Amino acid sequence: MNDRKFQPETLAIHAGQIPDAATGARALPIYQTTSFVFDSAEHAANLFNLQTFGNVYSRLSNPTVAALEERVAALEGGRAAVASASGMAAEAMALMTLLQAGDHVVAAGALYGGTVTMLAVSLAKFGIEVSFVDATRPDVTQAEAFAAAIRPNTRAVYAESLGNPSLVVLDIQAVAEVAHAHGLPLIIDNTVPSPFLCNPLALGADIVVHSATKYLAGHGTTLGGVMVEGGKFPWDNGKFPGMTEPSAGYHGVRFYETFGDFGFSMRARMETLRVYGAALSPMSAWQILQGVETLPLRMERHCRNALAVAQFLQTHPQVAWVNYPGLPDHPQHALLQRQMRGASGLLAFGVKGGIAPGVKFIESARFMSHLVNIGDTRTLISHPASTTHRQLDEAQQRSAGVLPDMVRISVGLEHVDDILWDMDQALAAAAA
Ligand code: PLP
Repeated sequence: MNDRKFQPETLAIHAGQIPDAATGARALPIYQTTSFVFDSAEHAANLFNLQTFGNVYSRLSNPTVAALEERVAALEGGRAAVASASGMAAEAMALMTLLQAGDHVVAAGALYGGTVTMLAVSLAKFGIEVSFVDATRPDVTQAEAFAAAIRPNTRAVYAESLGNPSLVVLDIQAVAEVAHAHGLPLIIDNTVPSPFLCNPLALGADIVVHSATKYLAGHGTTLGGVMVEGGKFPWDNGKFPGMTEPSAGYHGVRFYETFGDFGFSMRARMETLRVYGAALSPMSAWQILQGVETLPLRMERHCRNALAVAQFLQTHPQVAWVNYPGLPDHPQHALLQRQMRGASGLLAFGVKGGIAPGVKFIESARFMSHLVNIGDTRTLISHPASTTHRQLDEAQQRSAGVLPDMVRISVGLEHVDDILWDMDQALAAAAA
């Protein structure tokens, strides 16, 4: 049984959890406790020395949270994972573990707005510089565009597998090859496809981050994040002393030497999560896991509904343009098909006439909700330029793939005929 490679539908339900040893409970218990009793003083010492695995305090680890970590690691085909209070916290955990003052990051320009702010503004306060790459230039490949931005002090390459809301598909394999040729890890935000549609680690990425708030949780109820480590990156290539030298933050542990292929996760947990404290609550981990159990089913339906919406919009006279890489005539459709099982529920379009009719469309929706989340059961609509990407100037917005007239839709799980009805009546209202 142990050597069987289970399918994602099975992993989504079982990975990381067996019936509770103490009570026999089949569903995952919520271990709503801050702390865990030591067997003895020696046991406590061994736990603190990282010589034995076990729980000490829920800011570091918790059994309910661990089930989520193991399940997402299994779905991503990763070696280990660390959960966090939100997707932003997962990104911060990966970057703050990896980087120090004087380092440089090469990042895709087309990213979630909060991530652009973290990279361009927040990391700058710690002396870390970021170059943004336009991964949509027609004159160079994505690999060439990323390679050109790498410097001697670059320590990470960062991108989204499927950009929110730009929907730019990253050529993960090609960009991973570039990163590795320079001795750098590739970090991928895989929030939009979710681990059911795309596994960046299998394509060469080294670290994956998720906003579990979106499709993993799936019901618009709970914030959370997860960072997954692939376990294949050679941290002893001379560029990452924090992985190989004794840790000043955790009594001299050499994380790579001691923990090998899960050394980065251990370091993220013991040096970053433990110190900055953005831990996920057990209650939230449990709620996210409820969502994860149905992730494969939901993603199939999100993709099917979104494709129908994209095809409807393509032929609608009120619509100026549609961006959904699941459409066969999309310029990145072949790349998407090579890397992903589907294009997710996210799509973007422009209402003819620009911003004003776009806003009218949003305000005329009947059950589609005007808000800034994605990956909910409900269909959600928003205007990124005035909301999620509002903090960026117009050049940054364009570089993030945000056009002034862009309407973003996260297509939900309602009946597709009803979604098309609501879109049609809102488009009619926008034209009036
Ligand atoms: N990454 C992507 C692609 C996102 O869309 C978001 C949120 O919208 C985040 C990260 C941040 O996640 P959270 O809101 O859970 O902090």
